[in-house]
Amino acid sequence: MAAGGPSSRIVSLMLAGAHMSIAGGVHRAVERAEGYGMTALQIFTRTARAWTAPPIPEEEERRFRTGLAASGVRAAVAHATYLANPASPDGNLRRRSERALVEELLRCEALTIPWLILHPGSGTGSGAAASVRRAGRVLARVLAATSGCTAGLLVENTAGQGDCLGAAFAEVGALLAAAGDVERLGACLDTCHAFAAGYDLPSAAGFVAARAELDREVGLARVRAVHVNDCVGPLGCRVDRHAGLGLGTMGLGAFRRIARDRVLGRLPLILETPKGELDGEDLDARNLRLLRKSGKNDPGSVLPGGKNDPGSSYPDFGGGA
Ligand SMILES: [Zn+2]
Ligand SMILES: [Zn+2]
Repeated sequence: MAAGGPSSRIVSLMLAGAHMSIAGGVHRAVERAEGYGMTALQIFTRTARAWTAPPIPEEEERRFRTGLAASGVRAAVAHATYLANPASPDGNLRRRSERALVEELLRCEALTIPWLILHPGSGTGSGAAASVRRAGRVLARVLAATSGCTAGLLVENTAGQGDCLGAAFAEVGALLAAAGDVERLGACLDTCHAFAAGYDLPSAAGFVAARAELDREVGLARVRAVHVNDCVGPLGCRVDRHAGLGLGTMGLGAFRRIARDRVLGRLPLILETPKGELDGEDLDARNLRLLRKSGKNDPGSVLPGGKNDPGSSYPDFGGGA
């Protein structure tokens, strides 16, 4: 309904997609995204729950690159392994994390994926300041070890589950500052995590306040991707459990605000929501439909700055490109 068609040019410009499986090869994720008409895509470049993975065969890399270039997907990002914990007080774990992140960043580079998204990790009770310092050093080393690359890192805000760093935007900002790099280092906003961490994105005032805080602490220009996820738990629950849009506790208002925001709405909007079916409709298709509808240029949705102007260009998505 909302996707494609001559009357929906503005809608189709939205960079909307989902995290897709690489089962059968990384190139298969592009094909899957194409099947849904996605314009954005997130993948793991390898198994997310293991430290090591065999290299991607060259032929598969080539098929991914050519498939992506020929597809309607205009923004692809990767998510790093969940095992990486650059904030850990355990030096061995930090070194392993560093190696894994370097290796994943090189994979991104080979796949022409400009950004690798990672969680800041957990200092396991050692305090935010020390965790930020440690994680900052690891990220700086990862970026230095890959200095010839265009691909960079995006630090994602977290739900603050357990002792996870990055629930407050200020912690994400402090980590970016500690890591030092500006060109190849940015942030990814996860809506479920923000809501779980206490940012009231569904309320008009809460959204404005959260957006202002994000701008102050991180800088809106440094946010390069948004994970659009509804949340299973209530505001401030600190539990990282994603729900499909409108199927959690956030309602659709937050997603409308994001999709129509003149900065955030132009970033890749990536769903990390449960797969499956609801009332006979594929859940990825359903979430995409709702997301696209959220950004629809209906009367009243045009914000100052002409964000819905079909002639306006999107900011550079590439890492420094
Ligand atoms: Zn996320
Ligand atoms: Zn999450």
